[in-house]
Amino acid sequence: MSLKGKTAVVTGSNSGIGLGVARELAKAGADIVLNSFTERDEDHQLAKDMAAEFGVKVRYIKADLSKGDEARALIEQAGVCDILVNNAGIQHVAPIDEFPVAKWDAIIAINMSSAFHTTAVALPMMRKAGWGRVINIASAHGLTASPYKSAYVTAKHGIVGMTKTVGLETAKEPITANAICPGYVHTPLVEAQIPDTAKKYNMTEEEAVEKIILDRQPSKQFATVEQIGGTAVFLCSDAAEQITGTTISVDGGWTAL
Ligand code: NAD
Repeated sequence: MSLKGKTAVVTGSNSGIGLGVARELAKAGADIVLNSFTERDEDHQLAKDMAAEFGVKVRYIKADLSKGDEARALIEQAGVCDILVNNAGIQHVAPIDEFPVAKWDAIIAINMSSAFHTTAVALPMMRKAGWGRVINIASAHGLTASPYKSAYVTAKHGIVGMTKTVGLETAKEPITANAICPGYVHTPLVEAQIPDTAKKYNMTEEEAVEKIILDRQPSKQFATVEQIGGTAVFLCSDAAEQITGTTISVDGGWTAL
């Protein structure tokens, strides 16, 4: 499957799942716009290295997606957006009666509202190009809940709702909108939690992964960023043309429980 000639904007893509998705789309031939809120030499170097590795055009555009105007400016600056991957996200864990208001506002803004702003600017571009894909990286927490993650669960359920709405608004057009709902994915962020979790529960790292971190993931395996990227590439394929307004879980059975 070739995405040659298409441009993908992947938000929050200088690490983790966003980077993995960007790499799989680049491998399939798409030009890429990488994004995060930082403006460091290494961000631009990442773009150069990816361009050299996959033989596609790659740019890095800084935008702080906690701000609606910067989210809109990201897509405007990209100029073209055939594939929009709304991936940027943060997490904070606390009981709802102790949840810091600033953290609530940031999670709702970055994990949910940024996708409203980017989608609103990208859709006219997709219509002009006569083809488009909106891919929202939601979560198993877009379909189920866990205690102490009120803002995250709210934002992820919200983005699943937004996905359904955009799917309906574009249903008669050659544009689809879907959400990928990962369970636990092996990212540097998750990797860093393993030693602390093992120490806290007085377990080996293997036990901590199986019994604590992957407690709700029946496969007892992490999904990989390549698998999330591969799912995004599939959603861009002709085979996925009639898949719209829905979710695809990549969660080792979590939501079947
Ligand atoms: P990560 O921390 O590695 O990546 C998050 C990305 O978002 C980074 O590139 C970061 O720079 C960017 N970002 C954060 N705040 C931003 C802001 N204000 N403006 C622009 N960019 C910003 O985490 P990840 O695990 O790769 O998560 C990526 C997405 O996948 C998130 O939406 C997360 O909720 C979702 N997700 C992750 C998992 C998992 O197990 N890792 C599971 C389900 C869903």
